[in-house]
Amino acid sequence: MRVRLIYSPDVVEKPILAEVISKTGLLINILEAKVNAQKGELVVSIPSSGEKLEEAIAIFRRAGVKVEEIKETLKIDREKCTSCGACISPCPTQALQLGSDWTLKYEEEKCVACGTCVNACPFGALTLLEGSEG
Ligand code: SF4
Ligand code: SF4
Repeated sequence: MRVRLIYSPDVVEKPILAEVISKTGLLINILEAKVNAQKGELVVSIPSSGEKLEEAIAIFRRAGVKVEEIKETLKIDREKCTSCGACISPCPTQALQLGSDWTLKYEEEKCVACGTCVNACPFGALTLLEGSEG
């Protein structure tokens, strides 16, 4: 699951992510980080579900971190996509790549739903949608 972690000034300097990793054993992957002395925002991928995921989220919340699930997913309109690659380098997390068959591949677990690729596509082939059914 991808989540956005919002740290308030009171907790921004505490090693909360390290505590969650140490207590749960989960290999949490940081996808994006915007941190300064006043506040912090991380987007992370937590490779888990069920009780283990709930435990990790509960530790963040107990420590004063706001946790928001990222539900958006990218829909590629294959009729419009020419596999030109213009959306690939603007993506900050390498969620978009050209596959060995030269078609565009998308890894949802790496996507921080920033929308940069949507604006970069000259053919209007990309849309960010709520939920993963799209
Ligand atoms: S920029 Fe648009 S057309 Fe080009 S590869 Fe990306 S989605 Fe396809
Ligand atoms: S919305 Fe597009 S540019 Fe942003 S992380 Fe997802 S795939 Fe990359």
